[in-house]
Amino acid sequence: MKKTGDLGLSSRCIHAGDTLDERGGIFTPLYTHSTFAFPDTKSVLDVVQGRVQGSLYTRYGFNPTIQSLETKLAAIENGEAAWVFASGMAAESATFLAHCKTGDHIVCIGDVYGGTYELLAENLPELGIHTTFLLGSELDRLETSITNNTRIVFFETPTNPNMEVQDIAAIAAVAKQCGAITVVDNTFATPVNQQPLLLGADLVVHSTTKYLGGHSDLTGGTVIGSSDLLAPIWNWRKNLGQMMAPEVAYLLARSLRTLVVRVHAHNAAAQQLAERLASHPRITKVNYPGFANFAGHQLAKRQMNGFGGMISFVVEGNAQDAATVVDKLKLFSIAPSLGGVESLVTQPITTTHINLAPEERAKRGIVDSMIRISVGLEDVEDLWADLAQALET
Ligand code: PLP
Repeated sequence: MKKTGDLGLSSRCIHAGDTLDERGGIFTPLYTHSTFAFPDTKSVLDVVQGRVQGSLYTRYGFNPTIQSLETKLAAIENGEAAWVFASGMAAESATFLAHCKTGDHIVCIGDVYGGTYELLAENLPELGIHTTFLLGSELDRLETSITNNTRIVFFETPTNPNMEVQDIAAIAAVAKQCGAITVVDNTFATPVNQQPLLLGADLVVHSTTKYLGGHSDLTGGTVIGSSDLLAPIWNWRKNLGQMMAPEVAYLLARSLRTLVVRVHAHNAAAQQLAERLASHPRITKVNYPGFANFAGHQLAKRQMNGFGGMISFVVEGNAQDAATVVDKLKLFSIAPSLGGVESLVTQPITTTHINLAPEERAKRGIVDSMIRISVGLEDVEDLWADLAQALET
């Protein structure tokens, strides 16, 4: 294994976890194998009983391609270890199930991905695990919302679709003082723009389907943090059968090697487009943490190294006016994901927030004529030309 502990982020993205193979191949190859053979029974027992780290069975994660990727992810997010999963939701559900039992409680702050909300609001209560949801503006209620049974404080930052920025260090400090762990979904920011573990969070989760994969061609998830907190999650992943396929792990490791340059390019393009959108006469509001007058800008500057590739904006008029703009876009694809090289567009009320009651949307400032874009890596001038033509009346 290459030594990468002291290296910068780009170097870790490229080299961490990788080994020269026996023929001199310069990174870990793809082992598609579901199982691995041993010379004798003693050697099997050494791996099964944990005395020797080795390959065994892919669903357990004992596969060299998977283990190499996990070492890389841990190094990139400054964690001791990482587990990978078949999806972001698999990573989140295993984390909640491993750290909460019947009667336990979770506090969820601010807007979260719709699937996460459903898991917390509908599925986990069936197991007797209940969640208190606080708006970002209700943070003063955090301490009193944490009970003796609260195990996890969970949030995303920046949030979807308002790009609201949550104070990781402040929230983690309150949670810690009350005996709960802080879990941050770092999917929108990426470890290039934000490193929650260094700010006091205990675990970081990602949908690697998004920026970490970066090419809209894989589905995966990860949870990263201390070995102690990851240990109970391993068993849930194994027994729920949530393992990422080795082919996906190989593709994700390939993508991570270019993560830093991709995210820097997403940041730069999004800043330019956000500024141009803000000066367009048909746009009444732009949400982007990179704006000096954006509510969360000062906090974003403190805890982020870049402001990301996600923007939401409000078009003058109603839902149909926004839909007309979306439908006129040619270079942006209408699709409900983010973080890839291709620019994508959605109208939150038709996708991510379709199931939220109108009054809940109103509380969160998610208006009918809001549009969310994931800024890809096409030429900025082409993206702006597309937006400008779509915004023409
Ligand atoms: N977290 C965030 C912020 C997301 O946007 C998503 C999906 O859109 C998820 C988690 C879930 O990830 P996946 O679709 O890989 O299960």
